[in-house]
Amino acid sequence: MDKNMNTISIEDRYFLPVFRKIPVSIERGEGVYVFDENGKRYLDFTAGWGVTCIGHASPVIARALAEQSARIIQNPESGKTYSPPRAELLLLLSGILPHGLTRIFFTNSGAESNDAAIKLARKITGRKNVVSTLNSFHGRTISTASATGQASHRDRYEPLMPHYLFVPYGDIEAIRRVIRDDVAAVIVEPIQGEGGIIVPPESYLPDLSALCAENGVHLILDEIQTGFLRTGAFFCSSRHDLDVGFMTMAKGIAGGFPFGAFAVTEEIAEKIEIGDHGGTYCGNPLGCAVSRAVISHLIENRIADNVSDVSAFIFEILAGWQGEFGGLIREVRGQGLLIAVEMADSATTAAIQNECLERGLMINVTQGTVIRIFPALTITRGEAMEGMDILKQALARHA
Ligand code: PLP
Repeated sequence: MDKNMNTISIEDRYFLPVFRKIPVSIERGEGVYVFDENGKRYLDFTAGWGVTCIGHASPVIARALAEQSARIIQNPESGKTYSPPRAELLLLLSGILPHGLTRIFFTNSGAESNDAAIKLARKITGRKNVVSTLNSFHGRTISTASATGQASHRDRYEPLMPHYLFVPYGDIEAIRRVIRDDVAAVIVEPIQGEGGIIVPPESYLPDLSALCAENGVHLILDEIQTGFLRTGAFFCSSRHDLDVGFMTMAKGIAGGFPFGAFAVTEEIAEKIEIGDHGGTYCGNPLGCAVSRAVISHLIENRIADNVSDVSAFIFEILAGWQGEFGGLIREVRGQGLLIAVEMADSATTAAIQNECLERGLMINVTQGTVIRIFPALTITRGEAMEGMDILKQALARHA
């Protein structure tokens, strides 16, 4: 008997039908693996959309959750009262955030972080316009959907939030043309994730940072998908010395516990007044304790080294495939463990995704043709090899 079916039929009956569902009911996880209700094992190359950075059912997270929930989950008067795990997390983050980002606020998701950054940038500048990039993804609240540069994620919700301007990604001249004294902020991903893992030219972020600084415009760096070692460094933009106003974070920040943050400069913090922002769960002790445990684990276990090692290993395999499956693969790109294999057509991509699933590998496809490989950052070479072998078998059937 297929034990998944009861769960599937209940979800299909009652869950809002916003997803093209995958007919697998996941009962538990262990590291990079998950198991369905029949006990079938899958290797997870999606990390729950770039979230479970230290693996599924991590004892590190389980311990932090158990210990903190036995003490306190939500403070009386929420963020108005002080909290040891919050203070510890603030200290930890202040040690890894790029230079200049010294004040931090906590949220529950990526969209919430971006929403707050946009709201506060408008408030402190008194300017209305926000520049975003075509093909970007910044979230699903009405303001972040409005800031998203893809009609499919945006236009069905009209009327949208006004005063968003869109320019091609990676094109500094296009931004130069729209930057005026009515622009509050430019919001940008260091690498466009959901848009297909688009890596901009090396000079893009430094030029953008300088352009924003010259014009009194705040740069909002959306590191929600790229942060917390996903691309090798703690933040994708840390490789450059940038003048960032707001950095937004979520996903890997707490390894799967719903949590997010944004950081701002001291100069911005000075312009923020009591009541400008808040939230019931902002910096709740439970989320802070988990995030602190996850980030400490990343640092203490030198997970950055693993990311660069396994990344190089996967890119080497993919380089070989480009010769072998030249007709199928259009391009390979990415950084760290955020890797795109862009395929030639969407029907084949969907077929390959299904074949991988049957063979016990979960892969994510974005933009119809881009296989996005973004597993747990703790994945070993052996586990990566196992997944790449399954993917190769699926590709070979279509070569
Ligand atoms: N920004 C980027 C770059 C993202 O990749 C995502 C989610 O995929 C978001 C924002 C929205 O984050 P959340 O789904 O946590 O609201």
